[in-house]
Amino acid sequence: MGSPSYPLTLDLTGRRAVVVGGGPVAARRASGLVEAGAAVEVIAPFLCEDLGALVAGGALTWHERDYLPGDLTLKDRPAPDADNSSESAVEQVFDPAWLVHTATGERSVDDQVAREAEAARIWCVRADDATASTAWTPAVARGAVGTASEGLTVAVTAGGDPRRASAVRDAVLAALDSGTLPVRRLRRATPASGAGTPTVGRVALVGGGPGADDLITVRGRALLAAADVVVTDRLGPRGLLATLGADVEVVDVGKTPGNHPVSQERINELLVHHARLGKRVVRLKGGDPFVLGRGGEEALHCLANGVAVEVVPGVTSAVSVPAAAGIPVTHRGVAASFVVASAHEGAEHVLAAAADAAPDATLVLLMGVSRLGETAAALIDAGRPADTPVALVERGWTPEQRTTTTTLATAARDAELAGVRAPAVVVVGEVVALREQLGDLAGSSVTA
Ligand code: SAH
Repeated sequence: MGSPSYPLTLDLTGRRAVVVGGGPVAARRASGLVEAGAAVEVIAPFLCEDLGALVAGGALTWHERDYLPGDLTLKDRPAPDADNSSESAVEQVFDPAWLVHTATGERSVDDQVAREAEAARIWCVRADDATASTAWTPAVARGAVGTASEGLTVAVTAGGDPRRASAVRDAVLAALDSGTLPVRRLRRATPASGAGTPTVGRVALVGGGPGADDLITVRGRALLAAADVVVTDRLGPRGLLATLGADVEVVDVGKTPGNHPVSQERINELLVHHARLGKRVVRLKGGDPFVLGRGGEEALHCLANGVAVEVVPGVTSAVSVPAAAGIPVTHRGVAASFVVASAHEGAEHVLAAAADAAPDATLVLLMGVSRLGETAAALIDAGRPADTPVALVERGWTPEQRTTTTTLATAARDAELAGVRAPAVVVVGEVVALREQLGDLAGSSVTA
């Protein structure tokens, strides 16, 4: 295949395509043609199992014989004025195939097919000799139905080295799944029927993980790459926003303490509004969408308004931020359970959450900085030892990660001395002591 080639995709629906040969290579070619909707005829005295199955399933026509001159251009059809009782009456009509694959394993036969194809101007793919072919089949990757890559076809050729082409095709498939390719649809599919039927978009509530760009899930990353609109928070993998195309609308509803937050009601409205315009909306949230993140309310609002919604779980800060600081939330012989609570609503709420927990349970508090003193005092009053170890882990999984260790009795004072600020995860329990041996465990990204 040293000669220049001209990549092209064909619509073979209902068009005659001939496969000469009955072995496994012919079977692969025939099944590809069947998938493409071609009217496939196989010419071979014997069939391998796969081809036999295709014939049995009625997917193609089998001529049980050797190849004959004229097979590419002439076609049998029932003779119109023959005696109706004679089922075998056929006549031959000129109906050239659009494409032929020859894979007989016999050079002289493949030569003959190729020669006749050339004379009749029919493209011919030869299994035995790519250089003697007039057409080549690429290695093909198709975006899976229902994923962000749906509708994409990538075809790879490698100059007569099919294994090399397959290897690249496999890498492309992996990249399609990873969400690192710009797979976003820029042209909407036209509705098949009902002119003007609006295409309704959908909303994906994507958990972005605790902050590092590569702690989002593969599915979340892929949906992000396909999004038309991204509604984002202050927390989560904000670095990924820079990877979005210039025409992707990014709506930042991130609250910073003291700044005007966008109300939850407004966020809900935004999601529905954009989806109704036919957009693919990603609601990118820090951590996991359903852990103290109001993702459930967003999902309910979408459904109540007839907008399809899906959730993509994320790595919650409740577990991953302590881990980054070398604190396992459970550890054999130290703590066999953990409780996650919001400290935002006040100490009462934290006490209620901790009340039924095992005495050794680790307590993980989110949004716990502003009311730390009050919360720690209430826990001591409720019977937790004043010297219970406490860790305050700020900005986990970012370059600014910082951990302050203290105790319930001294937490408020130490936090103030160190200038601890939100976002931080507060960990209360004996597991905090493990940090002395483990130290910081947040490795750096392997891809960055
Ligand atoms: N849905 C999120 C939690 C949202 S509540 C999740 O699953 O992680 C917001 C709180 O999460 C913050 O106040 C803080 O306590 C915690 N948090 C989130 N990301 C954090 C990070 N990178 N470092 C420290 N705390 C974080």
